[in-house]
Formats: sequence, structure tokens, C-alpha cells
Amino acid sequence: MSTWVVGKIVEVKHWTDQLFSLIVQAPVNAFVAGQFTRIGMYVNSTIIQRAYSYLNAPNNPNLEFYIATVLEGKFTPLLRALCSGDTVMLTKEAYGRFVLDEIPSCANLWMLASGTGIGPYLSILADHDERLDQFSNIVLVHATRFYKNLNYLSQIKKLKNIYSSKLRVQTITSQEKSYNSLFGRIPTLIENNSLEKKVGLPLNISNSHVMLCGNPHMISDTKEILKKKYGMKDHVRRNPGHITQERYW
Ligand SMILES: Cc1cc2nc3c(=O)[nH]c(=O)nc-3n(C[C@H](O)[C@H](O)[C@H](O)COP(=O)(O)OP(=O)(O)OC[C@H]3O[C@@H](n4cnc5c(N)ncnc54)[C@H](O)[C@@H]3O)c2cc1C
Repeated sequence: MSTWVVGKIVEVKHWTDQLFSLIVQAPVNAFVAGQFTRIGMYVNSTIIQRAYSYLNAPNNPNLEFYIATVLEGKFTPLLRALCSGDTVMLTKEAYGRFVLDEIPSCANLWMLASGTGIGPYLSILADHDERLDQFSNIVLVHATRFYKNLNYLSQIKKLKNIYSSKLRVQTITSQEKSYNSLFGRIPTLIENNSLEKKVGLPLNISNSHVMLCGNPHMISDTKEILKKKYGMKDHVRRNPGHITQERYW
């Protein structure tokens, strides 16, 4: 049974019609960057709850969640209607193994995100955990349909200044061409080598680990290419591999 705590909405940032971020203050337990909590709301005396990844660093008391409204969804239209001062429920405990402790040591860590799947990576990078020292290069890839959906670019730029040449950032848009972004979908851009060429680093089985977060279609299509092209396999502690994933639905 989960223990629920009350969270107070400090701010709701509406980026587009569908994308928004909730900033919440709540007495949750410490979490590890990359983990998620469950947010809940009472509707007709029943709690509706869904999982959301923490986007803030663990030491930041402003808990931040980057959320896409699913128009026919049961929960996100309710969340989107919230205003500062409103309350939600959060589980006190955080969950999940999409964390640096679960990533094997390697030269190049690839963090591939679609849409709101950028959240856990921003938390991990903002945490400046010494476990990041084990990687020579970190590649952060944010893929969205349109340029207007690349909403965390200013935060990403700050991280780029901190990590300098260790962090390589690549944006991708799939429905329109945009300046400095690759055009297409992650799996296609891996298959035709465009991502490796633009980033300037080889992606291979001997020196790379790939984290995948967000849309389950992106994850399964990307995994298929990584397995076929490079012979990569899923990673679990008992059976080490090269791919770690967090599917959002
Ligand atoms: C570990 C974990 C972490 C997650 N973290 C986040 C996060 O940080 N931000 C975030 O936005 N979501 C996140 N999600 C997804 C989230 O839990 C909900 O599933 C999502 O917000 C939809 O809720 P809903 O009740 O509005 O839609 P539902 O009524 O549950 O879903 C209706 C249908 O919409 C589809 N669907 C679900 N989510 C999406 C989506 N995002 N885009 C398009 N179609 C969708 C599915 O086919 C689903 O059957 C996470 C999920 C998991 C498992």
C-alpha cells in the first residue's frame, strides 16, 4: 500500500496546448535522480493515479513534472486544469530503476528521449552525481514532433555549460525541419547513421550504453534497430547488456 502525502502546486507552466509542467512542494521521501512518483487525485471519492518522473534534481524542494495532456485521457486533463495553490496527492516513496546505479560502466552514455521522456535525464544531469564521472561522453538526445515542443532548451544549455565537451546535445524534430535539429525519427536516424555523424561519436556494442525514455513506439522501434544493427541487448543487473528503458505507456 502506498503512503500518500499532500502536495501544494506552486506553479503550472503551460508550454503549449498539450504540454505543461507542474511544480509541487510536498513532504516526499528522498528519491534518486531518474525515479518516478505517482500523482493522485480524488474523483467521486476514488483516487485516480498515474506515474510521473521527477525532472528536478533530488536536492531541489520544487518537485517538477513535465506532462503531456492526453486529450481522451482520464487523468491528464484534470492535472492540466490545476492552478497554483491547488493540491494533489503524491506517493511518499519514489519508484523505478532508471537510475545511474543500474547503468554499467562504459565510455559513452546515450540518453535518448522522446517528448516528456526528457524529464529523468534532466534530473540525473542536474544532480551532478559522481557516478557520471565514469563516462567519457554523455549524449543527450531530445526528439519531439515540432520545434515548439523542445521546451527545456534553456535548462539544457545551462547543463551544457556545466558539463562542457563531456555533454553532447542533439535535438530531433519529426514533423518539421528546424535549425540545428535532425529531421526524422530516432530509429531511422540511428539506422542511417545520421545521429552518430551529427553527434560525432560512434555508437557501438564495445563502448556504449543506451538509455531510452518516453513513447513506447520509439522505444521498441529503437531497440529493434540497436539489436539488429549493433547486436545490443537489454540490460538487467543479473544479465548485463547495453539498453536500459523507461516506457511511459
Ligand atoms: C514510469 C512512468 C513514468 C511516467 N512519467 C511520465 C512523465 O514524466 N510525463 C508524462 O507526460 N507521462 C508520464 N508517464 C505516463 C503517465 O503515467 C500517464 O500514462 C499519462 O499521463 C496518461 O494518463 P491519462 O490518464 O491522461 O491517460 P489514460 O486514460 O491512462 O490513457 C489513455 C490512452 O492514451 C495513450 N497514452 C498514454 N499516455 C500517453 C502520452 N503521453 N501520449 C500519447 N498517448 C498516451 C495510451 O494508449 C492510453 O491507453 C509515465 C508512465 C510511467 C509508467
